[in-house]
Amino acid sequence: MSSQYLVGIDIGGTNVDALLVWCSEENEVEQVAFHTSPIRSLDGKRPIDIVIEVVDELLIMGQIENSADLGGIGVGVPGLVDPKTGKVSLAVNLDEDSMMLGPLLEARFGCPVLVENDANAVALGAYRFLVDQSIEHLAFVTLGTGVGSGLILHGKVFHGAQNMAGEIGHMFIKENDVRCSCGANGCLETFVAGPAIKRMGEKVCASGRETSLKNYSEMSAAAVFTEADKNDPAAVEIVNEVGIILARALQGLIMSFDLQKIVIGGGISRAGNTLLNPVLNEWKRMRNDSVMAAEMLQPRKLMICPATYRAGAWGAVAVALSQSDLIQAKLVAQIN
Ligand SMILES: [Zn+2]
Repeated sequence: MSSQYLVGIDIGGTNVDALLVWCSEENEVEQVAFHTSPIRSLDGKRPIDIVIEVVDELLIMGQIENSADLGGIGVGVPGLVDPKTGKVSLAVNLDEDSMMLGPLLEARFGCPVLVENDANAVALGAYRFLVDQSIEHLAFVTLGTGVGSGLILHGKVFHGAQNMAGEIGHMFIKENDVRCSCGANGCLETFVAGPAIKRMGEKVCASGRETSLKNYSEMSAAAVFTEADKNDPAAVEIVNEVGIILARALQGLIMSFDLQKIVIGGGISRAGNTLLNPVLNEWKRMRNDSVMAAEMLQPRKLMICPATYRAGAWGAVAVALSQSDLIQAKLVAQIN
């Protein structure tokens, strides 16, 4: 592959992030410029127009005069994505039911554009840029407002028959009294996502139990982790409960796909070891019970995504790279 500039665009619910990188002949990828903007404007601009503005601005920052000179653009976007056509359905962040996002950006910028579901893009980015080269099978699990995951098997995104592979947020865990955003009951994300942890914090405060969580005028998952870190017994219990359910869900992923690594990202992952330790404790219990678990659930298979790594934007860069003949790119510089 000859050297070239590539762009990655991450279309999030709050912001559009765009990253311009230089990819050398030695297969090294270096950040050139980064730009971000809120996806919703007060003057009624369409989100897609804001996406285009962000890329225009990024190219000015990187002194790229002609976008047709780009090697390609990769896009990560939530929704049902057909990577072959660039069509996005249920594109909630773009306020569209359906959009031919790939062809639209190709016509505007005059270079190849590849579109991928955001969870898949993030997983591909982790495969390229975060884990060591011996890893061929991994999942990136995003814990935030919801729970999503992308799967990389044999170094490639695993889409499944309906491009829905890895949607573990809606995997059934057990009956509870919460209805999930998908309409079902008992989904994983109603146990371990941000709103679930917040709800558990509110519940313990309402129960009359003594807890430092009562000092918060507004409850949040972050508050629960902060107080768990300070050993508030009620907060520790919540975090342990979340950790146990998450540990079993991740065990399910490992046993289904024989993964070498699971990277945990998203807002909840900022809790770091406060989140990871209860998961590892449950895995330890499982290893003690089972020879198979002892073989499969080694702690090194779990990794918290570094907080400074822009998982969405680098994921989109990895999508752009996937159209080239590049086998494995190494991340050289990453500037915030
Ligand atoms: Zn659900």
